[in-house]
Amino acid sequence: MFQAIVIDQDADRLQNCQLVSLDESLLPKGEVQIEVLYSTLNYKDALAITGKSPVVRSFPMVPGIDLVGKVTHCDTDDFSTGDLVLLNGFGVGEKHWGGLAQKASLNSDWLIPLPHKVEPKQAMAVGTAGYTAMLSVLALEKHGIKPSDGEILVTGANGGVGSFAIRLLSRLGYQVVASTGRPEESEYLMSLGACEVIDRGTLSEPSKPLQKERWAGVVDCVGSHTLVNACATTRYGGVVTACGLAQGMDFPASVAPFILRGVTLVGIDSVMRPKADRLEAWQRLSELLQPEDFQHIGHEIPLNQAIDMAHSLLDGKVRGRVIVSLQDG
Ligand code: NAP
Repeated sequence: MFQAIVIDQDADRLQNCQLVSLDESLLPKGEVQIEVLYSTLNYKDALAITGKSPVVRSFPMVPGIDLVGKVTHCDTDDFSTGDLVLLNGFGVGEKHWGGLAQKASLNSDWLIPLPHKVEPKQAMAVGTAGYTAMLSVLALEKHGIKPSDGEILVTGANGGVGSFAIRLLSRLGYQVVASTGRPEESEYLMSLGACEVIDRGTLSEPSKPLQKERWAGVVDCVGSHTLVNACATTRYGGVVTACGLAQGMDFPASVAPFILRGVTLVGIDSVMRPKADRLEAWQRLSELLQPEDFQHIGHEIPLNQAIDMAHSLLDGKVRGRVIVSLQDG
């Protein structure tokens, strides 16, 4: 038997979510069996658990889009018993049973080995947020943006992706300008490595299609008018990455920055990345993040607190990352 959070629907399609004990025979078919060590509570997981948004595509479902665990059985040659493995995305926690359970049964292709320098708990402190930030930074690098090219704007700076992006960019020597709606957190953003903090209100309203050039690159977590204005203020040949929609999913833009300034807009998806990208991103994370980065990043809870915590997270009462420990009851 193992403990799991299970989301289900009743005959009237009303969603319920509870912590239950399940027999291992109920696990879905998969090539790799895993003892889950840690998972996380992302915003998406909180939406799934509370039913506030239709994240779950099939029922019953175990939520949890990130997990790290130990292989107990593998049908392919990819892993051996005892290997530590890591998973971000791939529809886990939405279409396939995810990490908020003591056991998981998964496709081998979805998993990568946990990098040697990273502890299981640290990997979950990074989670999809830090991994997405790394993918964004890699995109800037791959499009040729160097620290000497000028300032990099990070929007949604106090969020999970934004704060990791600031840390990673500053470690690489970039000059980072953080855009936030929470100026009271400026000291925190500067401690992560931002050189300057700006009010997100300067970017969030409709404005001209081409504005004064400032950014060599942008990591945008916000979308909508903020992304439009970020493109309109990016310098000739600059690169803007778009991963988020915190302000909105719309993109009410003009093509002017792309056709008159050669600006490149790069979409960042963390869910379906090829294995080579995942290995590269986690290798770079393991090189760039230092032990002190994990000290105040989040806090750990046992599985039996995850449902209550999901409600608090959506109520905006949780700061930092929530790491869920699966093996301590
Ligand atoms: P988060 O922790 O909730 O942070 C989002 C941040 O955006 C907030 O902290 C806030 O930063 C800012 N924000 C919130 N509402 C805003 C508004 N109305 N206008 C402008 N800024 C606003 O989320 P996250 O984990 O960092 O994720 C950021 C975004 O990326 C989300 O939209 C998420 O869904 C998306 N995401 C996408 C992928 C992918 O694969 N593409 C992966 C992970 C996340 P300040 O308080 O500093 O203003």
